[in-house]
Amino acid sequence: MLIRLSEIEDVLVVKGEMDTARFQKTDDTQFTLLAPVRYELAVTKFDDTVSIEGPVTFEASLSCSRCLEDFDLSMSLQMAIKLTPKSTLPEAAEMELHNDDLDVYYYEGDEIDLDPFVYEEVMLNIPVRPLCSEECRGICPTCGRNRNIEPCDCPEAPSSLLGEKLKSFLN
Ligand SMILES: [Zn+2]
Ligand SMILES: [Zn+2]
Repeated sequence: MLIRLSEIEDVLVVKGEMDTARFQKTDDTQFTLLAPVRYELAVTKFDDTVSIEGPVTFEASLSCSRCLEDFDLSMSLQMAIKLTPKSTLPEAAEMELHNDDLDVYYYEGDEIDLDPFVYEEVMLNIPVRPLCSEECRGICPTCGRNRNIEPCDCPEAPSSLLGEKLKSFLN
């Protein structure tokens, strides 16, 4: 959704939805949105700095990285970003600032499109290794059963147990 900065008097509350079609599948996106992404963002302007804050909620279907079953995840995120005008930024400092402060963005002119920010907020918060539950017991590497549904008596392979622990640690 496009907003015009010149139309902000005090605070502009922008309520909207982003169509699921906007979230195209790529190799990195192993999820399907079940409903449009909803947001209700308060846009405020102080001097040249624009703040955008508010909840972004979505519901997605993901595949558990342990048991491979699909599960639904609903998330309510709190978006909070600041934008400064690009023109005030010295060219040389631009690259550095991008790396240093991830929550500061830039705008040009009078219009800001909120969609890319909402998009990024969602993409950044989709779990890289989704789990249907923290206690998910996964698939038995020996017999291939989903151990959440049907426990088996296979001896736990020490290496895979370690691997699993490492993975959750890295998460
Ligand atoms: Zn699972
Ligand atoms: Zn087994």
